[in-house]
Amino acid sequence: MKLARRMSSFAESATLEVAGRITRLNAEGRNVISFAAGEPDFDVPEPAKEAAINAIRRGQNKYTPVAGTDALKTAVIEFTKKNLGVQYAKNEVIVSLGAKHSLYNVSQALFDEFDEVVIFTPYWVSYPNQVLLAGATPVFVKSDPDGSFQPDMNDLKSKITAATKAIIINSPNNPTGAVYTNEVVRKISDLAVENDIYLISDEIYDSVVYDGVRPLSPVTLGEDVRKRTILVNGLSKSFSMTGWRLGYALGDAELIAAMVKIQSQSTSNAVTPMQVAATEALKDLSFLPPRVEEFKRRRDLIVKAFNSLEGVNCTSPKGAFYAFPDFTGWIGKSFDGEKIRDSVQLANMLIDKAGVGPVPGIAFGSENHLRFTYAMSMEKIEEGMMRLAAFASKLS
Ligand code: PMP
Ligand code: GLU
Repeated sequence: MKLARRMSSFAESATLEVAGRITRLNAEGRNVISFAAGEPDFDVPEPAKEAAINAIRRGQNKYTPVAGTDALKTAVIEFTKKNLGVQYAKNEVIVSLGAKHSLYNVSQALFDEFDEVVIFTPYWVSYPNQVLLAGATPVFVKSDPDGSFQPDMNDLKSKITAATKAIIINSPNNPTGAVYTNEVVRKISDLAVENDIYLISDEIYDSVVYDGVRPLSPVTLGEDVRKRTILVNGLSKSFSMTGWRLGYALGDAELIAAMVKIQSQSTSNAVTPMQVAATEALKDLSFLPPRVEEFKRRRDLIVKAFNSLEGVNCTSPKGAFYAFPDFTGWIGKSFDGEKIRDSVQLANMLIDKAGVGPVPGIAFGSENHLRFTYAMSMEKIEEGMMRLAAFASKLS
């Protein structure tokens, strides 16, 4: 098949690929605990379910305006105002089929060939691929100068050029769980204003934070920053609505109009009953604190388990639901006579020989790490960590 040239520089989502592979192996009778896709095991909140069912019964099953219903846009605006104290207008909002889709629309609407887009490493798997698909060039900037996965400001300054169109920030971060310090967010925002660069702020994990840490959104840093920031969020993580595909973006009206144009030629509106459900869900996040408390217990369990393994080092994440342990001490060791060369081989060996399924760090631009989600029961985490320890005991 003669595929489009752009497919050669473009990869399938590694998180979804590994998750799908493990699902297939388990369907064939294997027993692999999947630590792959970051998807809360909690249920969709009851009011959202009710609203979706009622919407279907009531006949709200037709197209809506491409950017979403007025009611949902109003709910998004009110939710954002309540959380961040920032007011948006209806023509500054688009509702999409997930935050991933909003981000895709942003990249298609904003990036040209020869544009450079700064992405901090380790990064979420879809950022570089979406930039590449828009024909632009991802420019990678290190984080982690001191082990806390904070962006390296010196590296950032050295990578900004006349071609830098945007900087993507993601705090709380996938895959590291880092929450950027206020100082870092302020410095990045200042650089964006000084150099006329857009900020894309992916805040999908904003309400999943621990230890009293609060993420700072650049849109709260005054009009100069707000007007050049595209805020992306969605209901997949906080509301456990991954399969319902509901995300949104807030930003400059001209950019939002361009995104609507792209969406009108690709997917049209987000699924109508799900929009009704999201409108209801956004009214009440009071169910979330006990869930975050449960995530924190799981985090503590998994981080302790990693740090008890020789050659493994894991920073305790401040947000999201991923651990990103460093397995440098295992590279070069052997299991059953097979040498561990890199994160891909280690992840594959863990799936095949230990029945534990993480995502290789290289998918996030970080060779010696593995990403484990802990959005799963304590029992599963415990079992997975026991399997990992048994594997570790046989390393030579
Ligand atoms: N951004 C980040 C950082 C993510 O981890 C995800 C994963 N789902 C998304 C965006 C997209 O989420 P969704 O499309 O399910 O809203
Ligand atoms: N965002 C989640 C993850 O990183 C779900 C999969 C995906 O959309 O990439 O695991």
